[in-house]
Amino acid sequence: ETAIVWFRRDLRVRDQPVFEAAAGRAQRALAVFVLDEKLLGPSGAARRTFLYRSLRDLDASLDGRLLVVRGDPAEAVPKLAGAVGASSVHVAADFGPYGRERDEAVEKALADRDVELVRTGSPYAVEPGKITKSDGDPYRVYTPFSREWGKRDKGAPADTDASTVDWMDPSEKKGGPRAVKVPDDESVEAELPTAGEQAAHDYWEAFVDEHLEDYDDLRDRPDRPGTSRMSVYLKYGVIHPRTLLAGVGGSGKGATSFRNELCFRDFYAAVLWFFPRSARENFDPKFDAMTYDGGKAAEERFRAWQEGCTGFPAIDAAMRQLRGEAWMHNRMRMAVASFLVKDLHLPWWRGARHFLDLLVDGDLPSNQHGWQWAAGTGTDAAPYFRVFNPVTQGERFDPQGDYVRRWVPELAGIEGKKVHQPWKLDEPPADYPAPIVDHKAERQEALERFNAL
Ligand code: FAD
Repeated sequence: ETAIVWFRRDLRVRDQPVFEAAAGRAQRALAVFVLDEKLLGPSGAARRTFLYRSLRDLDASLDGRLLVVRGDPAEAVPKLAGAVGASSVHVAADFGPYGRERDEAVEKALADRDVELVRTGSPYAVEPGKITKSDGDPYRVYTPFSREWGKRDKGAPADTDASTVDWMDPSEKKGGPRAVKVPDDESVEAELPTAGEQAAHDYWEAFVDEHLEDYDDLRDRPDRPGTSRMSVYLKYGVIHPRTLLAGVGGSGKGATSFRNELCFRDFYAAVLWFFPRSARENFDPKFDAMTYDGGKAAEERFRAWQEGCTGFPAIDAAMRQLRGEAWMHNRMRMAVASFLVKDLHLPWWRGARHFLDLLVDGDLPSNQHGWQWAAGTGTDAAPYFRVFNPVTQGERFDPQGDYVRRWVPELAGIEGKKVHQPWKLDEPPADYPAPIVDHKAERQEALERFNAL
């Protein structure tokens, strides 16, 4: 008896409950990944490249036994099940709007052949949908959700490795979709983090040793290497949050604060699960009547924001970090999002799309809801009238200006915190733009538009 293990967002061999489920059902299993144009198309070159590298690493862990095929999973997976005579296909459940529909289609097509789709676990510490208010209603606010999340048993990491399953050699497969090579890397402007499961564990252990203790104090500082950089590995399931929760240990301010952030990831996935339309629409429909800027001047400002040429050093540093690393510090994600919506009066979804084009950790629930939070249209108490000041954000969280100097070479010669207001210098650098808007005036404008709703 042969089973199929269909990898999607769980590109690892350690802490893999799916392996245990497959090994419990069959003597051996075929490892499969389906290159699905519907997911690859909107992914952006950084994410596609990181995915391909992760797949090559997974294939090496499986001794070259990962079968990669291309196509619509609802056709490819049932055909593969037929080709190897499988009676079960094992996956970790997916909860995004597309993944959910896709899995229902695959499940139906498999059922027609008497093959079962077996879901074991998920990419989250607590599965979306599992935490509700006592009347079954979803939480719309983070804090009560997190209280409930804190009480739930997340389970210990599963003790698995590649040898938990006896992997079938894909060349034994008779018929069905043909094997393709993992695509080559694409040309990516950004320097990407090292892909692969060992790299994820190495980064993680270094973070726990060097930064976890101070995480609560330094997590808001873009000028310091104080955060875990786990988002990209979590995105592709190269490491599971269970493993991270087990690694942070019990008490301590750093550990508590880190657990909170992982809880945010689960919260936004749960919100998107209950409200799938919130990927595209305002979570709070009151904002549907909001007016935005349009026309040539607005497009030019949008481009200046994208290119990191707004004349606000902290904003520009962050937008250039996004291009340079395909990643941006959380504090700066909030600042640039607020700037786009409240200083430039452009809709959050345009910024969210730009982020998803470039981020290597780009992930629908965290990104769309991070944007909605910053725009004031989303869950939680992020009132629209709280407008971030792009200068003081820089001065507070990049107090010596190191972050700006690292990412904005035109300002590299300006010492200390003066770098946050180059227009105040006797001789502002000629090759750096003046601020494209007057923050005070635009803040007032944003508040007036809000009050008109
Ligand atoms: P750490 O500080 O080490 O946090 C550990 C983990 O907790 C992260 O890896 C992440 O999984 C989770 N986490 C931390 N903060 C948040 C948060 N605010 N919301 C949800 N999860 C969180 N995160 C993404 O993974 N993908 C995105 O596309 C994304 N887009 C965002 C867009 C905006 C406008 C904002 C404000 C936030 C966004 N975030 C996104 C959340 C957060 O910025 C990143 O998860 C974080 O910066 C990743 O760096 P890290 O792994 O070093 O974080």
